[in-house]
Amino acid sequence: MWGNLSRAWKICFEQAWLSYCSGSFPIGAAITDENGKVISAGRNKVYEKSQEPGQICNNKIAHAEINAILKIDNLETNRNRKKYSIFSTMEPCALCFGAIVMSSIKNIHYAAGDGLAGAANPVNGNDYIIEKSISVHGPHKELEIVQLVLKTDFVLRRGHDIDRIITPWKRDCPKGVELGERWLNLVKGGSAKKNYKRLNERAGHSKTSLMK
Ligand SMILES: [Zn+2]
Repeated sequence: MWGNLSRAWKICFEQAWLSYCSGSFPIGAAITDENGKVISAGRNKVYEKSQEPGQICNNKIAHAEINAILKIDNLETNRNRKKYSIFSTMEPCALCFGAIVMSSIKNIHYAAGDGLAGAANPVNGNDYIIEKSISVHGPHKELEIVQLVLKTDFVLRRGHDIDRIITPWKRDCPKGVELGERWLNLVKGGSAKKNYKRLNERAGHSKTSLMK
């Protein structure tokens, strides 16, 4: 499956994995230009203390899509921005959907739906949003499962309000949540721990709080 993915999706999931290894929500995003070339990538850095210049971290709004958007020229002088597409491993929330609308990005692709916080629904928007004619593509049948494995593992590990968060995901993608629960148990167990450590090292994080 990985070999058949577009470069944008690969970058999205690489970014999500980096966030997972760094202790932030495992969500990654990428933006492609009018020719389909990836021109920006960003990831969730809500629980991180450092960031590259021009990005945000250590803040509840340090979302993947926001960090990706902060790297592009979205001013009126760049007319090509209307031909850009944004990819995200998770359905954009109200914050990110608003940033996408205000950036005049017309195409949204997301891997997993988010029955809890997802808000990529231009049909129910006000006149301003509807006039933008934004097209939304998602969820992605296979990538949705991958994303929810990471997200389920992450929220279980952090001890978030599990029922409130996971119940809507379970409704939309039970397989992803189930595999996420199993993945967590596997990593906490024995044999998978080595693989997990190796993957972390490849991602540049030999030790993370997630291993504790
Ligand atoms: Zn968001």
